[in-house]
Amino acid sequence: DVLVVGSANADLTVRVDRRPGAGETVLGTDLVESAGGKGANQAAAAARIGGRTALLARVGKDAYGDLLLAAQREAGTDVTPVVVDEAARTGTAMIIVGPDGDNSIVVSPGANAALTPQDVAAARQTVAAATVLSLQLEIPTETVRAAAVTAEECGTRVVLNPSPVPERLAPELLAAADPLVVNEHEARRLSGAADGTPRDWAHALRELGARSVVVTLGADGALLLDGAGLHEVPGVTVDAVDTTGAGDAFTGALATRLARGDTLPAAARFAVRVGAAAVTKPGAQPSYPTLADLDALPGS
Ligand code: ADP
Repeated sequence: DVLVVGSANADLTVRVDRRPGAGETVLGTDLVESAGGKGANQAAAAARIGGRTALLARVGKDAYGDLLLAAQREAGTDVTPVVVDEAARTGTAMIIVGPDGDNSIVVSPGANAALTPQDVAAARQTVAAATVLSLQLEIPTETVRAAAVTAEECGTRVVLNPSPVPERLAPELLAAADPLVVNEHEARRLSGAADGTPRDWAHALRELGARSVVVTLGADGALLLDGAGLHEVPGVTVDAVDTTGAGDAFTGALATRLARGDTLPAAARFAVRVGAAAVTKPGAQPSYPTLADLDALPGS
């Protein structure tokens, strides 16, 4: 089983022909409201492909909270651990999608900021029952740390996507990650490298303490490094419509396959396909594939 501890946000998305600069106004398409947030995304991705998945998150007692819970239930996630917070608004992400399908995002954490180490302590049995705990950094750092420590105490494997990327990652978080899942930007930043290649960054991150490292390479797939060495997973060629949540889809799929007992390379091969499917449709969770959807991808 996979347990995701992390954020849940309502994604408020507008597409534009041109990104506004500072002080500038541009007109966009109609607003689309959909389910997102890195934690909720990972859980939805894992559940949609059939993995037994639970989510520990906080949402507000409002319409966006209802939307997020409904989306998780629809994906098949166990939402029993989700806390509905009467004192906070559901987190929101304001997303601008440019003509190239790439996005710029501002997140207002809301209830995510109130997810505490006490919430993790209350869910200790669920952490212990999980095979893999999947973490990201859109909730307070001390909560992420508490979850990682609890997982280590319970013998639960930790998958960590350090996003949004901090200046510096706490050494105990880096040491808990097996794997650390980073995109190229995060890999470069956390490895402290001014230049170099994704391979260099992966080696540097392992030297810094990560047990294994997966670097996602967008359309080029992913590379991974563990005790057995370096593996490259080629990308799947698709028409990219909206890359929002692609990395989360990848990580959720990876966690599911690792929980099922796959090797890291096998899990990454599967996750690259899930990530590719996720960019072929708009939105984060609404774009996530079922196993049947994956059959329609090139190379199936
Ligand atoms: P993030 O979304 O965190 O920036 P990436 O851009 O590396 O991460 O994408 C994560 C995964 O999503 C990739 O490993 C790949 O599987 C898939 N993906 C992303 N962009 C594309 C694309 N343009 N074509 C095919 N697959 C993609």
